[in-house]
Amino acid sequence: MFDSHVHAGPDVLDRIGDDTDVARMYGLADFSGFVLKAHYESTVGRAHAAARLTGKSVYGGIALNQHCGGINPSAVAAALGAGGRVVWMPTADAHTQHTADLPRLCNHEPRIGPHTYAIPPVDTRNIEAVETVLALIADHDAVLATGHLSGDECRWLSERARFFGIGRVMFTHPSYTVPGLEPAAIRTLVENGGYAEITTYQLLHQPRCTPTMLARAAEAAGSRLILSSDAGQPDSPPPPEALLLLIDTLAAEGLDRRWLESAASTTPTALFTPN
Ligand SMILES: [Zn+2]
Repeated sequence: MFDSHVHAGPDVLDRIGDDTDVARMYGLADFSGFVLKAHYESTVGRAHAAARLTGKSVYGGIALNQHCGGINPSAVAAALGAGGRVVWMPTADAHTQHTADLPRLCNHEPRIGPHTYAIPPVDTRNIEAVETVLALIADHDAVLATGHLSGDECRWLSERARFFGIGRVMFTHPSYTVPGLEPAAIRTLVENGGYAEITTYQLLHQPRCTPTMLARAAEAAGSRLILSSDAGQPDSPPPPEALLLLIDTLAAEGLDRRWLESAASTTPTALFTPN
């Protein structure tokens, strides 16, 4: 198993454990690796340390939120130049997050003031910065993840990603509250390339989310499905258990277990492993 989305401490939020604790959990569960995500810090150095500690494939990257000035090519160049494997478009500081009244960095530290980020077609002023970021991702053959951007921005991004020759695209939990895409929209996205993620976090914490709803989203993704835990919250199960819970839950909805297991092992491994 390979978990392509987990959170650990240190963080501005409480987490179930730090990088070492979480790496040990995956070791005990015999996972091959994981992707360490943080909303407010590059995880590239942290992932490297966790990989050295465990001998597992541990990958990091950077999320383009307020901590790095949003869509910031300099931050991306530094993260990818140091071996980062993934760039997440704005997550906690995306404009969608603000509209949906979900947690933001400015909630943790009100003195910094709120800034939100959007890309075309919602905000066309930063197109040059976005395209520089895409060129950097293509150069490093890294993964472009869509973060919490809206469906319209995901569609624009996937078209521009193809133009820039990006071969690795992950639509970050499209059926979550943000961006809140229906199965038909998810199907259209993956038909043009890329992978669609479903997370245990959705199952456990997303308002009005049901196993049936996640099963419909999984079917829409088809062979382009990736299952991840997005765990690490103190009130979620340990991340390896959380990912297995998602597989069991979707299998109980009648979905093929071998397909679900590949969506949490070989599919994400191939997406993140450098050539
Ligand atoms: Zn997450």
